[in-house]
Amino acid sequence: MTKKINSFSLKFDTDWQYAAAPESSEHVEIKDKYDLFIGSKFVQPKSKKYFETINPSNEEVISKVAEANGSDVDAAVSAARKAFPKWSKLPAKERAKYIFRIARLIQERAREFAVIESMDGGKPIKEARDIDIPLAAAHFFYYAGWADKLEYAFPHRKVEPLGVAGQIIPWNFPLLMAAWKIAPALACGNTVVLKPAETTPLTAMKLAELIQDAGLPDGVVNIITGAGQTGAALVEHPDIDKIAFTGSTEVGKIIQKAIAGTKKKATLELGGKSANIIFEDAAIDQAVEGVINGIFFNQGHVCCAGSRLFVQESIKEEVERKLKARLETLIVGDPLDKNTDVGAINSKKQLETIEAYLKIGEKEGLESFQVKSKLPKKGYYCHPTLFFDVAQSSRLAQEEIFGPVLAIQTFRTVDEAIEKANNTPYGLSAGVWTDKGSKAFNLSVQLKAGVVWANTFNKFDPTSPFGGYKESGFGREGGLQGLEGYLKVE
Ligand code: NAP
Ligand code: MG
Repeated sequence: MTKKINSFSLKFDTDWQYAAAPESSEHVEIKDKYDLFIGSKFVQPKSKKYFETINPSNEEVISKVAEANGSDVDAAVSAARKAFPKWSKLPAKERAKYIFRIARLIQERAREFAVIESMDGGKPIKEARDIDIPLAAAHFFYYAGWADKLEYAFPHRKVEPLGVAGQIIPWNFPLLMAAWKIAPALACGNTVVLKPAETTPLTAMKLAELIQDAGLPDGVVNIITGAGQTGAALVEHPDIDKIAFTGSTEVGKIIQKAIAGTKKKATLELGGKSANIIFEDAAIDQAVEGVINGIFFNQGHVCCAGSRLFVQESIKEEVERKLKARLETLIVGDPLDKNTDVGAINSKKQLETIEAYLKIGEKEGLESFQVKSKLPKKGYYCHPTLFFDVAQSSRLAQEEIFGPVLAIQTFRTVDEAIEKANNTPYGLSAGVWTDKGSKAFNLSVQLKAGVVWANTFNKFDPTSPFGGYKESGFGREGGLQGLEGYLKVE
């Protein structure tokens, strides 16, 4: 059985260069049940178990997906291993053709992917449409281009693929994270087993259908759904050469322990508590817009979200006033409404986590601000929230909330801003808002963050490496550097 949803009512016009192809289908097809994608076939899980994936905006069940157990993981890894010799020896320009084909097919089905991403995970359709899906296609295009140019990426060095990569991804950017993982792995000649997150498996299963249509040789890409245990079984599988993980710092640490002393290589993209810093010489309106985007984009479910705001004391009153005014205009609600700015929280569990932090702020006696707009009756929603004068020691300033909650602090001098911004166990990203180029360059060196944005925030591009310092993980994805994680370079 298949549900058909007409997406014609949703306006998909955009001038983004990787936007939906004109022939992009208007129909969204979601099956009632999805099996595991192993060896280019959809196969039933050995456990015979399936779990429901729901739409967090209305709590309705969208579909059921298979729960892979240890033997299913084994079957997927074997399929990937079997495919490896042929795939890795295929002339690189032939490998590239398959990856280009995947990119093209994502463009052709961009509407379908955008609608499913929004339904399964709760993100606003305009973000799925303009950012997630186009960027996912862009990653495949970008890495397809590298496949037959690896000798130029690493001049005078010998490069070889690693083998079978086990890839585990989170729920905040489901298709995009799959693209970040699969595209470079394939370009370098590896084969993969991907495990999507439990709450957002559907675009990965759509990608499996697309990969089948693209005619990739059997077993080059395998996609297995399941819970944390499925991920753990993949990490522990003895025939995996590389683990690429994006998720929480907590699980990242478990993975590091599990693979210690084995041949397995790893890249870990973990949590964050990133600083957005506004200096008095900045273009304030532009900075306020960047701060709003930095924390409320994707409901704040962003590893590099600008969840700590540092404002220079002299402009505190103006920035806070403008932030409050901007909150009044944000539309919170139905993710499939193209005007929605802040959609649904991804799961009940995540909403409970966020609400617990709101209580902590209240208990600490912090001043806060919310606009109590009317929310849909069903579904998981959280009003965007500002907390003012947050102490450095507050849990709201220290811990990753992963929701639409901004902790505002102030500073007087450049050195104080740097010291406070770096005072965190994380180091994923930072934003600097200033009119002075020299200040932006100085901070980009001094801030311990993998990415430092100047007068912008949350800007992603496949050519640009992304990754963390400290407890935000190690290794880089994107750009030339993203190839290294999938190669033995001698
Ligand atoms: P998570 O709980 O760590 O889960 C991530 C993935 O790992 C999911 O597929 C999960 O499966 C699986 N998993 C859970 N336990 C596992 C185990 N013991 N062994 C192997 N795999 C396991 O993280 P999340 O809540 O989905 O995502 C939010 C976190 O991801 C945030 O901390 C965020 O900062 C981080 N993140 C980082 C980046 C980055 O690039 N640095 C990007 C996006 C997100 P289930 O879904 O079934 O639990
Ligand atoms: Mg879901």
